[in-house]
Amino acid sequence: MKILQKGFNYSQDGPGNRLVYHLQGCNFRCKWCSNPESMTDSNPEAKNYTVDELCDEVKRSRMMFFDGGGVTFTGGECTLQHKELTELLKHLREMGVNTAIETNASSPHLLEIAEHVDYLITDFKHYDSDIHKKWIGVGNEAVKANLEKIFLSGRQVHVRIPLIKNVNDNPQGFADYFSGFDTSNAVFEFLPYHEFGKDKWTEKYEIKDGFVSDKTVAEFKDLFAARGLKVTAT
Ligand code: SF4
Repeated sequence: MKILQKGFNYSQDGPGNRLVYHLQGCNFRCKWCSNPESMTDSNPEAKNYTVDELCDEVKRSRMMFFDGGGVTFTGGECTLQHKELTELLKHLREMGVNTAIETNASSPHLLEIAEHVDYLITDFKHYDSDIHKKWIGVGNEAVKANLEKIFLSGRQVHVRIPLIKNVNDNPQGFADYFSGFDTSNAVFEFLPYHEFGKDKWTEKYEIKDGFVSDKTVAEFKDLFAARGLKVTAT
C-alpha cells in the first residue's frame, strides 16, 4: 500500500488513541485541500508497504490503542487502494483491532469496504452537484448514492462537512438534503475552514477568505438540531 504518512492521533479520526495512516492518492481536487501533496499517485515521499508489514506494525502498536482506540485509514482517499485496504481491514478485524476509515465517500467499493470497518467517517462537501464540480472537480452523484445507501442500511456513520465561506456556507440546503433520510445512526460534524495546508500548494491557491464566522457555524448546528440531525464535535 502506498502511504504518505502515519502517526498517532487522539480521538480526532475515530474513538480513542489511534494509529492513523494517510494513504497516497485522491480522485477529488478540493480547492481548500490541506494535504495537496496527497492528491497525486506519484509522490516520491510516499512509501510502499505490504499488508503483512502493516499488520506487524499494528501488532507492535497495540499497547497504544487506549480509550477504545485502534487504526484509522485516511488520505488522500484511502478507498482508491480498495483491494489492499479490504484485505488489511479483514486481518485487523481477525486481530480484534478497532478500525476506522475517513473517506470522501465517492468509491464504488465503499459499501463493501465499510462491512469490515468499525467506525465510518465520510466527508460531504456540497449537496448541489454543479457547485461540487466547480470546487472539487467532479459532481457529487457517487457520494450521495453511497451516503443514501448507508443511511438506508442503518449502519453508524460520522459525516463531516467542511464549511467554506462563499462555497457551502448556507445551512438550508444541507439540512433539507439530510432531512430526507433516516439518519438515526448518523452524526454530523462541521469543520470550519482553515489554511494549515495553504503553503503546501504548488498550484495557485484559489480560495480567498474562506473563513466562516462563529455565527455561521452556530446556524448550521442550530438548524441541524432543529431537524433532529445529531451534531457532534471532535
Ligand atoms: S477529498 Fe480530501 S484529500 Fe482529496 S482533495 Fe479533497 S480534501 Fe484533499
